Amino acid sequence: MKAIVVTPQKPGVDIREIEIQEKGEIRVMTRLSGLCGTDRGIVNGDLDFARPPPGNDYLVLGHETLGEVVEGNDRLRKGDLVVPVVRRGCGECLNCKVGHQDFCETGKFTEIGIRGAHGTMREEFWDSEENLVKVAPSIGEIGVLLEPLSNVVKATRELESIQRRMLWRCEDSTYQCRTAVVLGSGPIGLLFSLTLKTMGFNVIVANRRPPSSVEEEIVKATGSIFINTSSEQLPEMDLLVDTSGHPSAFVPLLQKIRKNGALVLFGTTGKERAEITAEDVTRIVENNVVIMGSVNASKDDFQQGGNLLVTWKEMYGEVMSKFITRKVSVEEAPEVLEHKVPGEIKTVIKWK
Ligand SMILES: [Zn+2]
Repeated sequence: MKAIVVTPQKPGVDIREIEIQEKGEIRVMTRLSGLCGTDRGIVNGDLDFARPPPGNDYLVLGHETLGEVVEGNDRLRKGDLVVPVVRRGCGECLNCKVGHQDFCETGKFTEIGIRGAHGTMREEFWDSEENLVKVAPSIGEIGVLLEPLSNVVKATRELESIQRRMLWRCEDSTYQCRTAVVLGSGPIGLLFSLTLKTMGFNVIVANRRPPSSVEEEIVKATGSIFINTSSEQLPEMDLLVDTSGHPSAFVPLLQKIRKNGALVLFGTTGKERAEITAEDVTRIVENNVVIMGSVNASKDDFQQGGNLLVTWKEMYGEVMSKFITRKVSVEEAPEVLEHKVPGEIKTVIKWK
């Protein structure tokens, strides 16, 4: 079968005919593969942690997937739409043993298309039922957003559980009196804005530049506000979510986080330095500010994300399909993996 393969730590990407013997009772045909910064980091040879499965000298890319069951069982039937979870547990630590491989303690987990396991940028794959999340057929193509969304769902659930340390909800039991600022307007930033909006927050999406027309449309249609920080100041906030990975973007905003607020760090790929001052430390201490990092997601987060996609499609209609800014053929995939597409939110590869 046709697959998109890389040699980790070596720049470049190829389309190759391969054959893989793999475990799993469910045969899935890949419909769409989403592209993200991790894929491009691997293709450029920049990510040290990328590695092929044991005994292989190549890695099939792909961890954002929408697939269709072609051979199933009683619960996952032919024609069902499924999304595979990315991380596979170490089998040793307690968190992995109870399905929380996103909190693995040994670090011996694998991740499909990233570390030690082949991904899904190929015509088809076999997987176990336990690793597959069924999604509603009504979601259609935006099901390819479920993997990035699952990470956002996990981060917001973590945040909510930490914030139970005091009363943070408003008098009407929602978060309508709270302001959340999301730094970055890529797919993760926009998915954070929708998730936080659904929770009831007032949401501001911020970037150092004006929004693209698609970003503007999504932010407006979903009831959030876009602020271009190169020309406008951000107000004080209860929650700051950084999806940029640039310390120079979020460190200067520490002084704007209100009492009992939180900073959620999600981005990792940025550069630039920023200095945390004694005033910042005092503010964090005196205001009970939480700083939280979050990575990956459990199967439950994928399922909750699937419910959100159904809700959003109902609420926002066609605006949701604007997330997919470009669909390319398998043959065009190497080019879009090597170079970011201008104005891109989510570029996807169409397999079927
Ligand atoms: Zn583990």
